[in-house]
Amino acid sequence: MNTPCASESVRYLPLDRCSDDALIEMREIVKTFKTADTEFTALKGVTACFYEGEFVSIVGKSGSGKSTLVNMLTGIDHPTAGSVRVGETLIHKLSENDMSRWRGRNLGIVFQFFQLMPTLTLLENVMLPMALCGSCKPVQREKRALELLDLVGLHDLADKLPAAVSGGQQQSAAIARALANDPPIIFADEPTGNLDSRSADEVFAIFDGLVEQRKTILMVTHDSSLARRTHRTLLLSDGELIHPWVANSFPELNHNHMLWLTHHLQERTIAPGTALIDESRPALGLCLVVDGHLETAPNGHPGSHNGSLWLCPGDHFSSLDLPDISILRAGSQRPAALLVLERAQLDIWLQEEPSLREQLRTSSAIHPMPVPQEAV
Ligand code: ADP
Ligand code: MG
Repeated sequence: MNTPCASESVRYLPLDRCSDDALIEMREIVKTFKTADTEFTALKGVTACFYEGEFVSIVGKSGSGKSTLVNMLTGIDHPTAGSVRVGETLIHKLSENDMSRWRGRNLGIVFQFFQLMPTLTLLENVMLPMALCGSCKPVQREKRALELLDLVGLHDLADKLPAAVSGGQQQSAAIARALANDPPIIFADEPTGNLDSRSADEVFAIFDGLVEQRKTILMVTHDSSLARRTHRTLLLSDGELIHPWVANSFPELNHNHMLWLTHHLQERTIAPGTALIDESRPALGLCLVVDGHLETAPNGHPGSHNGSLWLCPGDHFSSLDLPDISILRAGSQRPAALLVLERAQLDIWLQEEPSLREQLRTSSAIHPMPVPQEAV
């Protein structure tokens, strides 16, 4: 049967668990920085999963915990609580020595300020990690480094010192260096933060090419236009992840409100063809479709709504837009997965934050859609 939804099965990634095929899994990561008289928790129980071949961006305001998160994943710093698995390795359990050996072979790291050795040529900078890891035979190192510099468009500048080339070229060299030991995973913390937009585009194009070769790339960025060009984006706020469906579907809300929804939305599955309303449960206040679709039930309160409704993944509505949800059912072919907020909770939230009423309506999906012929 036709459906007006562009896709009904966008991969739904629950926030609190990873599927078995995750390449990187961080579970309930807490990071507390302690000084003599203060304590600050920069990450408050973050669970996140990353899959092979993904290009993921991590965004959030300054101080939201992005670098701390990356430092947990790279083993540059240790979590106060929680676990980090990369492939088969539990990296929060590695000793300092094992960690640097493991990191050298498995991760490429790109920093905002390039961090090339100023007294070494670009070629020597790229060869350095090979020497440190003993990853390829000494006679092959120069050839491999030149190939990597070629890959990032710097073959002709191999003999230059970092100071003799542009910022964008230094960052490209830093990417070539990160690739020296052919790691499957690349972390980049604000890699374009110090570059003009043309150089940023060039760096991004290199990452795109690496993703095509099945590398997994995690990139922290301030640049929302670059973030939109990655496969998916994680949004951090005050040391917590905002649910990606909330971030995508309620773009007009501020981060505090997005976090509130993240904490309060509950998963619910509606069996194929059955009604959304369920007398045994509390009344629904807010509803976000994340898989399958909702449509108007043919026998649902005729005349209660003028047009037919068809709600696809990413669409949301509330009791403000549709007082009578009994007209809705899950599509007949597959279950509809929803994130829902009870009516009583929504009412209390709106009482506390009256301005939300208008904001929630701005992006609401309730507007009649044409129904395909077969479904009529
Ligand atoms: P972002 O990269 O998103 O700008 P960070 O991860 O660097 O944020 O920092 C998150 C919070 O943790 C900030 O408030 C920062 O001041 C604090 N923080 C980071 N590192 C330390 C540290 N070593 N000691 C104390 N506080 C820290
Ligand atoms: Mg940072």
